[in-house]
Parts: sequence; C-alpha cells; structure tokens
Amino acid sequence: MRGSIATPGPTTVRYGGNTSCIEVRHGGEIVILDAGTGLRLLGQALLEEFPEGPLNLTLLLSHTHWDHIQGLPFFGPIYEKRCHLRIVGCEGARKGLEEALTGQMETTYFPVPFAKLPSNIEIEEFTNYNFHIGPIEVQAHRANHPGVCVGYRLTTPDGRIAFFPDTEPRPEGSDPALLEFIQSADVLILDSQYNQAEYEKHRGWGHGCVDESVALALQAHVRSFYLFHHDPNHDDATLDQFVRHARALVKRQKSTLTVDAAREGETIKLGVPAPAKRRLQKA
Ligand SMILES: [Zn+2]
Ligand SMILES: [Zn+2]
Repeated sequence: MRGSIATPGPTTVRYGGNTSCIEVRHGGEIVILDAGTGLRLLGQALLEEFPEGPLNLTLLLSHTHWDHIQGLPFFGPIYEKRCHLRIVGCEGARKGLEEALTGQMETTYFPVPFAKLPSNIEIEEFTNYNFHIGPIEVQAHRANHPGVCVGYRLTTPDGRIAFFPDTEPRPEGSDPALLEFIQSADVLILDSQYNQAEYEKHRGWGHGCVDESVALALQAHVRSFYLFHHDPNHDDATLDQFVRHARALVKRQKSTLTVDAAREGETIKLGVPAPAKRRLQKA
C-alpha cells in the first residue's frame, strides 16, 4: 500500500510500510496484484499455509517501477521446486517484462540469478486486455502514469475489485473510459498519494490526490474505496487525516460510499455487507 519506497519505522506501524502487494482468492485461484516489498510476507504466509504439494500462483503486475517488483527476489515460493508462478503484465517500458524482472536479479543487484531459481516461472506479456484466471474475469486498463502501466479489474460472482495502484486520474468527467472501467466496483483501490496542495506541486508525476479520487469513486458509484500508494513521507497521523477528509467529502454528497486507507494485513470479504466504518484515532 505504500508508494515509491518501503517505510518501516514507528510512524508507519498502523498503515504499514511495505510497498504494493495484494492477494485475491477465488475459486481455488490465488492471484497476487503487484510484487512490492509486501510480497515477502505473503510468501512466508503461503508457505506456512501450504507446506507441501504443488503451489500454483498468478502474479499480475501493474508495471515495472521498483516499488511494484522489488519483492519478487524475496518471495519464498520461487525458491521451491513445487511452486508454479505465472507472472502476467503489460510490456515493460523500453525493456520487455521478462528483462525488467530478471534484470533486477542480475549479479550487480542480487546474489541469486533468476535462471537458477528452482521453481517453474512463466512470464507473459498480455496483448489482449481481457482474459481469465480460472473463473476470475480479468480486464486491464491503461493508467495515466509515466512508462507503461495498467490497472486491473477482477470480476467474480461475489463481486468486483478495481485496482489502480499508480495513476493520475484526469480531472473529473474527462476520462469516461476510466469511469466506466471502475463503475459500480465493490472495492476500488486507487492511487491517492497526495492532498490537494501536494498535488499542485506534483502534477504530471503520475499519482493521484484524495479529492479527485473521492470524486471519481462517487461518480462511479463504487461501494468501498481504499486510498492507496501512500506517500513515503506520510505517517499514520497524516493518513488518518486523509481518511477524515475523504469521509467528509463523501458525507457532503450524502453518499453511502465507504472510505478507508489501505492497511497492511487487512482482509476484505466480497459478497458480504460493506465493513463498518473503521474508527480513526483522535487527531
Ligand atoms: Zn508506485
Ligand atoms: Zn510507478
């Protein structure tokens, strides 16, 4: 959920300091969205839950910026012969996806070369923006972010998740394609790195701001919205403020949209009533 770089330390304990990584399960499939530093902990949890037998995983990458791929060399299952990992993403900017991923494990950067990994890893660049992972319907949509970057929409009978970790949504109403893509999502996870003042200084950097993200979520009739790609300089108290501000914007529109900031280790169940509003710490 953290953007740009991992931020361990006492001021990020509540929301978490690891970069982008989300696990989605449905119909026996285990799908991982992004391979940020959070992937290391997910790898540990998976190996604990599935101590033996084949382990089949699919990793969907939004793009190949550091904070979205850095966890891969530290993902325990890739060191297990019984693991089959299918990595799917759009073409890497300039370099292909495979080169971008294996390059970070070259000897200049990492001690174990990708080619020496015992697991079975397939790397696929998709050309068709609509595909399936088992029973999960997947659609990709180009993000407004430097390089090549996409967001994903995962649809199951239990509900729909839209995931845009890095994007600078265009001003309200001017991106009907994005609006349609996230329309009525049960869960929207969207880049909301900046507040309005910070955003003015970072226009064109490819990241969103809370006010515009909330406007977009409201316009698209989303059910639950999670602020994502938290700025590395924002501590827990700042993120509380972001959530308070976002909830005030929603209240003004008399909408039932629920808003929270994505937190490490949080589990969301689709197909059940939206979670109760989490109480924030006193300001
Ligand atoms: Zn990022
Ligand atoms: Zn990025």
